Amino acid sequence: MADKLVIGNWKMHGRHAFNAQLVKQLLSSEQVDRAGVALAVPAPYLVSVGELLKGSRLSLAAQDVSQFADDGAYTGETSAQMLADVGCAYVLVGHSERRQYLKEEGDQLRRKLLNVIAAGLTPVYCVGETLEEREAGRHFAVIREQLSALDGVDSGAVVVAYEPVWAIGTGKVASLEQIEEVHHEIKAECLRRLKGSATIRVLYGGSVKAENAAAILSIDNVDGALVGGASLVPESFSMICQTATKLI
Ligand code: PEP
Repeated sequence: MADKLVIGNWKMHGRHAFNAQLVKQLLSSEQVDRAGVALAVPAPYLVSVGELLKGSRLSLAAQDVSQFADDGAYTGETSAQMLADVGCAYVLVGHSERRQYLKEEGDQLRRKLLNVIAAGLTPVYCVGETLEEREAGRHFAVIREQLSALDGVDSGAVVVAYEPVWAIGTGKVASLEQIEEVHHEIKAECLRRLKGSATIRVLYGGSVKAENAAAILSIDNVDGALVGGASLVPESFSMICQTATKLI
């Protein structure tokens, strides 16, 4: 079975002392300190968490990136090149919270994806339907439309995170059948849209916890997990990483 990638998304949480404690506890487990585990931390803490991760095998991830490629007069923006410079390996693009609150979509997300790839980083492109779209039976159409941002993209590695919006932070988890069929469709759609032969990994995200991680990570075409809330609790995130390690 291929390596499972587990990314903890801290969202807008963390302070120096909390981060140091969390990372220390995570690194005390050999099954967490392995390649294939990454922490997506808020921008102000990328450098300090990067320092804490030095000497470990964990990767650093950013939660967002600028749509502007080059340095310039873009107040408040952080470029993909800057993220590479501070040691990020992955960058989340198009998380549903950014789609919802900041109205990110379409061309803007495509520019972000291209910038991340041009900077030599791996994008983690988040897709997923709302409850309304799922109930109207439009989930495949919505996800296909979101994946159109990948049209003709040429990258050695792409990670897509399937996160049904109705399962994020709600405690509701998609059924194993729902996850399986969407992941299968995402892989097929990526193969159609991406240029060349990229390694495509599809992560599941949405209320992944220590208790449900084994069942979710064992599904065909689930190559890992994007974990929000549980990534802030060292015991829970460690358990999820340990489960993923056992499945390798
Ligand atoms: C997320 O933030 O990507 C996420 C999946 O959150 P949670 O695990 O809390 O549902």
